[in-house]
Amino acid sequence: MTENVRLYAFNCGWFQCRPGYFVEGDEGDYLRGPVPSYLIDHPKGRALFDTGMGERYRRDLETALPANKFGLQWFEGMDIATRLRAIDVDPESIDWIVNSHLHIDHCGGNVHFPRATVIVQAREYEVARERPDPGLYEAVDFDTGQPIRTIEGELDLFGDGSVRIVPTYGHTHGHQSMIIRLARGDVLLAGDCCYTERNLDTMVLPKATADLEEGRLTFERLARARASGTRILFGHDGRQWATIRENARFE
Ligand SMILES: [Zn+2]
Repeated sequence: MTENVRLYAFNCGWFQCRPGYFVEGDEGDYLRGPVPSYLIDHPKGRALFDTGMGERYRRDLETALPANKFGLQWFEGMDIATRLRAIDVDPESIDWIVNSHLHIDHCGGNVHFPRATVIVQAREYEVARERPDPGLYEAVDFDTGQPIRTIEGELDLFGDGSVRIVPTYGHTHGHQSMIIRLARGDVLLAGDCCYTERNLDTMVLPKATADLEEGRLTFERLARARASGTRILFGHDGRQWATIRENARFE
């Protein structure tokens, strides 16, 4: 059964920042990390984990951010709808969107999937609606008309243990991640609960952490999962992303 679950990874944009943004005290040139989105193709339905950025973050050669500037951007062909079409997946066929959280670089592509149901932690949805914050929480990204299914804690999406949503609070009050059981073992799609592998190696939470206590507990769970063989795909890790084959089935 589990070998029927397929996972695909896509990069839908770029996140640029100084190394110290991820691990305080780190220095050096600006880093460029991916803005990932994932397709989980299960016999009972198709889900996305995160959807990248909205149209307003699209740039071209003339308007591109310089390499030494903090910010987010994407270029033609990187949006999740185009990424899916490139592997012959019709965006209309997506049943579920699981948003790790509702920051602008994780749900900005929700608008492309009008017939999908959005799954988000109830407390995340509440904070996003009650505390709009330009550049972080913007209703234009997550208030896009689809049914919203709010959950509290874990959810076994297809009821067979192969695709699990798990709370990973800290980065935001209602952050969640996803664990996919592949033939080679579990893969945990971290989202922003852990930006880079280096954060986990050093056990240093970034400054951008809404709840430090929850964030520490999440890091401890991640470290235990990694130690027991779970592969973790980090939120914005350029070094790790260089090793990932995009648009290909993740084995
Ligand atoms: Zn975030």
